[in-house]
Amino acid sequence: MTEVYSIDPLIIKTPYEITYKHSYGKTSKFFTSLSSGKLMTTRCEHCKVTFLPPRADCPNCLRETKWVEISGKGTIHTFTTLYFSGEKFLKDLPFQLVYVDLEGVDTLFLTRLKTKDMKKVKVGMKIRMRISKELEWRSSDVWAEPYE
Ligand SMILES: [Zn+2]
Repeated sequence: MTEVYSIDPLIIKTPYEITYKHSYGKTSKFFTSLSSGKLMTTRCEHCKVTFLPPRADCPNCLRETKWVEISGKGTIHTFTTLYFSGEKFLKDLPFQLVYVDLEGVDTLFLTRLKTKDMKKVKVGMKIRMRISKELEWRSSDVWAEPYE
C-alpha cells in the first residue's frame, strides 16, 4: 500500500521487494567452507600472493589460483565508524567497518568489527575473524572481533 508523506513536493512511501538470484561462481568455496568453520581464500602459487576476498584467477599473471585455509587472525589496518547504513544494519548503528591485515593474506579485507567498546578501537589492534553459526551465505556471515 502506498502512503503519501507530502503533496508539494509529492513524496510517497511504497513497498519495494525483489528476489535476487546471485551466483558466487568460482569463489563459492569461500562461503561453503564457512559451514565447517573454515576461512578459505585463494592463492596464486606463481606470484606467491594470497587474496581475500578470494579471486578465482590471479589479477597479476591471470593463472588460476588455489584454495588455502587461513587462521583469521590479524590486525586492524584502518577503520571508520558508520552512523548510517543499508536497511539490514540500521538496527546496529553506530558500528565500525575495518580493513584488516590477516595472517597469510597479502591484501586488505574489508569487514565489520563487532566490539563492546568502539572507543578502544585503534590501528594495529589485534583481531580475529568470526563466522556466524546461522549462515545467510553473504559477506556479513564473517566479521572481526578484538582478540586478546
Ligand atoms: Zn599470479
